Amino acid sequence: MTRNYEAVIGLECHAQLLTNSKLFCSCSTKFGDAPNMNTCPVCLGLPGALPVLNRVAVALAVRAALGLNCRVNAESQWARKNYFYPDLPKGYQISQYDRPLAQHGFIEISVEGIIKKIGIQRIHMEEDAGKSLHEGFPDSSRYTYLDFNRSGVPLIEIVSEPDIRSSAEAHDYLRRLKEILEYIDVNDGNMEEGSLRCDANVSVRKVGEQKFGTRTELKNINSFRFVQKAIDFEIKRQIDVLEAGRRVVQETRLWNADEERTVSMRSKEEAHDYRYFPDPDLPLLALDPESIKQVAHSMPELPEARRKRFVQEYALSEYDAGVLATTRALAEFFEETAKLSGQPKSAANWIMGDLLRFYKDRNTDLKDLSTSPVKPKMLADMISLVEKRTISGKIAKMVMEEMCLTAKAPQAIIEEKGLLQISNIDEIEKIVSRVIEENPKPAEQYRQGKTGNFGFFVGQVMKATGGRANPQTVNEVLKKRLAG
Ligand code: ADP
Ligand code: MG
Ligand code: ZN
Repeated sequence: MTRNYEAVIGLECHAQLLTNSKLFCSCSTKFGDAPNMNTCPVCLGLPGALPVLNRVAVALAVRAALGLNCRVNAESQWARKNYFYPDLPKGYQISQYDRPLAQHGFIEISVEGIIKKIGIQRIHMEEDAGKSLHEGFPDSSRYTYLDFNRSGVPLIEIVSEPDIRSSAEAHDYLRRLKEILEYIDVNDGNMEEGSLRCDANVSVRKVGEQKFGTRTELKNINSFRFVQKAIDFEIKRQIDVLEAGRRVVQETRLWNADEERTVSMRSKEEAHDYRYFPDPDLPLLALDPESIKQVAHSMPELPEARRKRFVQEYALSEYDAGVLATTRALAEFFEETAKLSGQPKSAANWIMGDLLRFYKDRNTDLKDLSTSPVKPKMLADMISLVEKRTISGKIAKMVMEEMCLTAKAPQAIIEEKGLLQISNIDEIEKIVSRVIEENPKPAEQYRQGKTGNFGFFVGQVMKATGGRANPQTVNEVLKKRLAG
């Protein structure tokens, strides 16, 4: 850290739970529907409407808690968080306060090879607010439109301990959080659509100092890149303030992506007092150990465990295992291909090379490979064909491309295009003879000891066979014929 200061960072992340209906009513949670389509008296906050808890949301929140190594509380309590805002028709949000769903978890991060646990203070459930859209001319705040489709959508808030010490660590924490939540089907990780949102609390202190410095809270950061930039900007700004002999003011600051700086939004003095109190409409949320156990049993293998297993079971490098385990769909794709072909290393290479390049070109989402034209069985068959020398590695590249474009099985492509490898020695000898006949000069040079042009002959034979000749046989035959 610059000028003997150390940063202290804690992240508060909101994640929308992947339920079909809202937290306390049966309205749809679908993103992008026409404004105010998905509303009812409960999520519009009409008088007399009563909340009914969505069980699926609770199950997903418990999954998240277990995936993030938290202790799930046997009882947690719904609380009203009171504040006024046009997109909050009840005048309060139903959240959890002093008795949250889960506590005491951690995420393991790794920055520059150093592994570190970042504590998770708490995970609590709450409902989302609606959305205000500001629009108009000449200034964009002339009209405000209200869309209550998001009102009542289930969220979890994941609050980290102030254990993070750099923007790089914050970035890795977020990346892993997103990965875990996606793996366990709790959240879709879409920061652009706002289904995963993050606020960063940042302070600085002199190295060696025990006490934390005064923190600011950064809001409005909607991408990983911005999180890192906003934190870096804020660290530098706070150090400058301290170095100038002034004090950091506790406040909320907004990240302005266009100007790449944080700007003050409200100070502590204006900060809300939410006057939390237990929601009288809802009983305690009681979770018996049995139901928590059930959720635990339904959990898939988590990304970190899967990476470690890939290294051990398939002898992959840490790097390869990391790439292949970025999403559950990709990891499963790899594992199926590896098992079907019995060639994990080839499977990894093909997927990380040609296939991922193809997905990238087509902007395919690596969370959903069910629409991929290439299936594990197809790739495994192709790997076996190379292994059996039915096709050469070079031809395999063509087959792969064709599979991506047409979704045809490799055997069909090979037949259709006549791509079978020529291993028949008689056939290769014929072609080699012809190539030598057609190139008397280089052949003569070779015989006089200038054997550096051997590759030229190999190239000619390959050209004559459309790349289908078995390279090893070509080498052998050529050496013999050129010498003779
Ligand atoms: P609030 O409810 O006002 O946001 P919390 O105590 O719940 O306050 O803390 C919110 C977040 O701020 C947590 O992620 C925590 O780790 C972080 N945090 C607390 N103190 C500091 C500090 N001095 N510097 C940086 N982050 C901090
Ligand atoms: Mg906060
Ligand atoms: Zn509703």
